Amino acid sequence: MDRRPHRPSTAHTDLGDAFFDVVSPAQFPARILRHRNQRWAERTGLGDLGGEAWLDHFAGFTPIPGSLEQPLALRYHGHQFRSYNSDLGDGRGFLFAQLHDLDDGRLLDLATKGSGTTPWSRAGDGRLTLKGGVREVLATAMLEALGVDTSKSFSLIETGESLHRGDEPSPTRSAVLVRLSHSHIRIGTFQRLAYLRDTASLARLVDHAVRIYLPQCWRDDPAARAEAFFAEVVARVARTGAAWMTAGFVHGVLNTDNINITGESFDYGPWRFLATYDPEFTAAYFDHSGLYAYGRQPEALMWNLSRLAGCLLPLAEKPALEAALATFEPALHEAFAECIATRLGVSSAGTAADQALGRAWFTFLLESQAPFGQAFFDWAGGLASEARAAASPDAAAYDHESFAPVRTALAGRSATIDLTHPHFVQSRPPTLLIEDVEALWAPIAAQDDWSLFHAKLDAIEAMRVAMTRANPVAKADPIA
Ligand code: AMP
Ligand code: MG
Repeated sequence: MDRRPHRPSTAHTDLGDAFFDVVSPAQFPARILRHRNQRWAERTGLGDLGGEAWLDHFAGFTPIPGSLEQPLALRYHGHQFRSYNSDLGDGRGFLFAQLHDLDDGRLLDLATKGSGTTPWSRAGDGRLTLKGGVREVLATAMLEALGVDTSKSFSLIETGESLHRGDEPSPTRSAVLVRLSHSHIRIGTFQRLAYLRDTASLARLVDHAVRIYLPQCWRDDPAARAEAFFAEVVARVARTGAAWMTAGFVHGVLNTDNINITGESFDYGPWRFLATYDPEFTAAYFDHSGLYAYGRQPEALMWNLSRLAGCLLPLAEKPALEAALATFEPALHEAFAECIATRLGVSSAGTAADQALGRAWFTFLLESQAPFGQAFFDWAGGLASEARAAASPDAAAYDHESFAPVRTALAGRSATIDLTHPHFVQSRPPTLLIEDVEALWAPIAAQDDWSLFHAKLDAIEAMRVAMTRANPVAKADPIA
């Protein structure tokens, strides 16, 4: 076990108390551990917490030594489905602690979902359903395995309350989630200050975000700093958009309060993964117009970034912000080329060739309607997987004429992943289609049987390891 001590921080309090409200956590009638992210606990120096101490910190919210003494509900506004809402804020969560990643030194937040009411709860109960928590754990594990820059689910503890929800059979079980993320500063955090015309606080927030999260954007001139900050947020959000598209992921609720300025993907509610390629596929049942459909995610992100640009107008030159906004689309395409090579686990052949591979691949997925995750799995490592793909339960899809350009684009590329990993011995990869999630939830709801949930997380973890561990044979291959 990794025994490095944790490196706590209270950085968020530097912003001053106009940015948050000190709150108290709910007292829960029960505390039953459902998920403990040991790998990330070790990376943050919390890996050797005993079972009771874990429950005390992540359901009882006993402070992490050296970090925040009391939880902070963060203040923010946001556009929800393009309507401005000045009545948002952490309504069922708070910033619990901050600490550094012991591997890369970056600052992380431990923040909650379902930890009780705050001044921002409106009519809500401040709670999270157990099913909602289970869904967030699954989504984050899968996205991390697929190489998406995502928040991590750190802890999920069932809390023994009965909740009523319109979108779950009720009463339903309750839980509290702790999420690990690089900041919870959202586009909506800036929008609130712009709405209040508090330019001094806007400048303070830019400086804080740059100093702590994006230090490469520091410029001595404040306008140049705000412009560099914005350009970096654009680049990061574009990359996340490309990563979602390659993952076949539909976030579902791309409101401006759900967009982190570090670009890290977070806050998973009605998310879905695609079964087959379908630009119109919509995750949230309440998204009647398909505003946040799979194929409209880049456009939604661009719209959100335009709102952030608007907030920064008092601090920066408009042409510079516009120029940065114009980099969104090329950045998305460039990141997309990188993401496609990464998810296929093949060496890059340069941006133009990787973009051609992406076009061929997605044309094939559209025309053949081959299963999305299976196709990536079957061709992981590229042509090195020819025999595996021929033995796939979906092998017939690769006879489709639209597959020929994919073969051409894969020629000469070597595998960058560990094809000898047992993950690749199965005939199907783990998937998180809605029916997979419902199938593993059913035994939890019926008889508190968590075996399918744990089996799914184990399979996803095996995929993560297989996809990130370089294949020593491929590395030595001179064609690479
Ligand atoms: P979300 O859809 O999770 O991004 O939440 C949007 C807003 O609604 C945020 O301000 C949340 O804090 C708030 N919210 C969502 N669910 C609840 C709840 N059960 N109780 C209180 N506030 C909530
Ligand atoms: Mg949210």
